[in-house]
This record gives sequence, structure tokens and C-alpha cells, in this order.
Amino acid sequence: MAAMKIFACMALCLLAGPLPAAQWYKHDDTVMGTAVHMEIWAETELRSRSLFQKVLAELHRIDVLMSHYKPQSELSGVNRLAGSQAVKVNPELFTVVKHALHMSVVTHGAFDIIYASVGRFYDYRLKRKPNADTIERLLPAIDYHHVVLNEQDHSVRFSRPDVYIDLGGIAKGYAVDRAIALLQAAGVHHAYVSAGGDSRILGDKQGRPWLVGIQHPRDRKKLAASLPLRDAAISTSGDYERFFDENDVRYHHIIDPRTGISANRVRSVTVIGKACFTTDALSTGLFVLGVEKGMALAESLPDIEAVFIDRFGRLYASSGFVNKTPR
Ligand code: AMP
Ligand code: MG
Repeated sequence: MAAMKIFACMALCLLAGPLPAAQWYKHDDTVMGTAVHMEIWAETELRSRSLFQKVLAELHRIDVLMSHYKPQSELSGVNRLAGSQAVKVNPELFTVVKHALHMSVVTHGAFDIIYASVGRFYDYRLKRKPNADTIERLLPAIDYHHVVLNEQDHSVRFSRPDVYIDLGGIAKGYAVDRAIALLQAAGVHHAYVSAGGDSRILGDKQGRPWLVGIQHPRDRKKLAASLPLRDAAISTSGDYERFFDENDVRYHHIIDPRTGISANRVRSVTVIGKACFTTDALSTGLFVLGVEKGMALAESLPDIEAVFIDRFGRLYASSGFVNKTPR
């Protein structure tokens, strides 16, 4: 009898095979109109799939809240009404707008979510841009001070009727941070999540840092540099993401709030820090500021490193790369 039990157990074990060892699982998708890539270290494929689904649901949820393209989003409600009345919003949207305004202060207005008061008249796919009259008329609307927040009732109001918010320079970073928080809460210790140019790394890659590439701004197939990173956030803003060229001028998606025209001092800026919420906004803001002012600002901020590629293709790295191996 005992022999039969042992035999049955052996047969079962053979059928089930050895216990699966943890391994890396990958998933690619499109959310928020952008490519999402995830890699997680998980015990089984089933668990990895369930985690990927949870993260995707979270990214969709944030998109529905914060997309200015979706007429039914909470942000679209703000854009429609806040010029004439205070609009109460979800605490999460309130937090993102509040952090965006803080990043405007940090970047001396170079990062400004109401850049879109003019910026919404660009359409890169249709090669459309606002004419000089439109820019002149709406430029005074671009000043983050026109967004008035009320902490008591979580409401947003605009001090001018022609103000328009676009969170495209910060919402992806926020979403990537949320994805990492969700994975951490589920017990994941090693992961990589990216949405467009915003990535976060949780832990490392089997005891070694991840090597994260900075895209060459003029050759999609090439990298301009590779950075060894662990437990870090990294965001790149580039003039090659959404653009059209006309008469030797590149019209792209990062707008200088002072001119209402695409910023042209650099081709790309990469920011490394602790959270994507900040690196996302900062990469956009430093892009507008250019190498000189942008690098001075990056050097003044704690836990921030930056890599600039200027309009001649020259690369500049902040002093943290020279003095120590970044994180
Ligand atoms: P990123 O790729 O993170 O640099 O974000 C670029 C996106 O940020 C654009 O597609 C716009 O949605 C938005 N944006 C453009 N210019 C600005 C600006 N000066 N301040 C804040 N957001 C901006
Ligand atoms: Mg950014």
C-alpha cells in the first residue's frame, strides 16, 4: 500500500514537472496613445499575465481621467468650464495639476501645462500650426498663474476664459509611477515599465543594473548613449517624437511657453531621478530651457541627473555622471 502511494506521488510529480523557477516576462501594448513596455520578474506566466492586466487597467483609468483628447475625460470637463466657474475634480487629478504647477515654479515657467492655450492649435499629423495672429492673441493666456487651485474643495478655476490644460508632459510619468507602485504592492521586486519616453526601474536585473538607451535623435536605429540604472526613473523628451518639417523649420510637440512655437535649442533631453512624475515634467521643461539654463537647473536639483543633445548633435552630461556612477 505504502509502495503504491509513493509510486502515485512519483507519477504525479513527473506529470507536474519541476516547480517553475521565476523568470522575466514581457508585455507590449498601446495605452494613452503611446507604446507601453513592461518586464517583470515573476514566478509563473499566469501571475505575470494577471499583473500586466492590472497595470494596463490602471493606465487606462488614468487616461480616462487625464486625457484632453477624450471629450468625456474629467480634464475635458475642466477645460470646458473652468474659464467661467470653479470645477471640483477628483483628488488624483487635483494632485497632478498641483504638481504640474509646482514644476512650473521649478522650471521658471518653461514647463507649463497651459502651453496648450496656444499649443492645441498645432496638429502634427495634418501639418497644421497656429498663425501669427492666433499666437499673439493667445500668448498672454500661457502663464501657469492663471490656474487657480482651491485645496478646500479640490476645485480648479482659470482666471481667463481662453486657458486650456494639456497634461501630456506629466501624465505618463504619473501613470508609470502608479504602475510601479501597483507592482510593488503585489510583491514584485524587479520590474521595468515604460510609456513612451518615460520609464521606471524597480530593483535591478539579476544583480546588475539595467542598461537604458538614449535614442539617437536623428537615427531611430541608433542609440546616442546607454546608462546603467537600478531603482530609478528616466524620461526623455525629443523633437523627433511628433513633428513636421516645413521650410527647414521643425515644428514639434514641445512648445516654448514664451513664444508659442516649438522650442529649438536642443534635440533631446534625458532626466534621471527617483520618480517619473518629476523626471517627465523636468525633461520637457529642460528641453525648453536648452543646455545652458537647463543644465544649471539640473545641477541645482537634488537627486537629478541630465543628458542634453544640442541642435548640433553634441552630448552634455551633468556632473553626477563624471563624479560618480549614476545610481
Ligand atoms: P514629453 O514627451 O514628456 O516631453 O512631453 C511632451 C508633451 O508635453 C507634448 O506632447 C505636450 O502634450 C506637452 N507639452 C508641450 N510643451 C509643453 C510645455 N512647455 N510645458 C508642459 N507641457 C508641454
Ligand atoms: Mg517629459
